Amino acid sequence: MLLATAILLTVGLMIYVAAPLLAPEGPEESVLPIDVTLQSDLKRRRMVIYDNLQDLEFEFKAGKIAPEDYESLRRNYLAEAAQLMLASQDQEKMSEHEALIEREVAAQRAALRKAAPQSYACPKCGYENPLPVKFCGECGAKMPGQ
Ligand SMILES: [Zn+2]
Repeated sequence: MLLATAILLTVGLMIYVAAPLLAPEGPEESVLPIDVTLQSDLKRRRMVIYDNLQDLEFEFKAGKIAPEDYESLRRNYLAEAAQLMLASQDQEKMSEHEALIEREVAAQRAALRKAAPQSYACPKCGYENPLPVKFCGECGAKMPGQ
């Protein structure tokens, strides 16, 4: 029983260690850079399409592609590029919108800070409480207006 367990463990470990080596070479997925932002991902994809377009142009000029194939491929690439461009424009608008909200929030916060009384001095002992409190942090007297 113990031996069987030991063999199972050993075999399991061997498979675990060897698995990545035995796995078939996948597509280039793992090699592709991981883009941090959606914006840069969209841009990278657009650049790939531009590359493809250039290649297509080149092959067409070299006579490797029939004119009608060239036309339809080119249209596809251009449509895809246009879509990506729209997507990144949307994305930009979104971040502009977010920036606007951030500014509004900051303005609101500044206004609130301005409106709040600057001093929470205790009327009894004169201690400057750092926050609006119900009772003075120094002497425990009830603070006015709280
Ligand atoms: Zn006090």
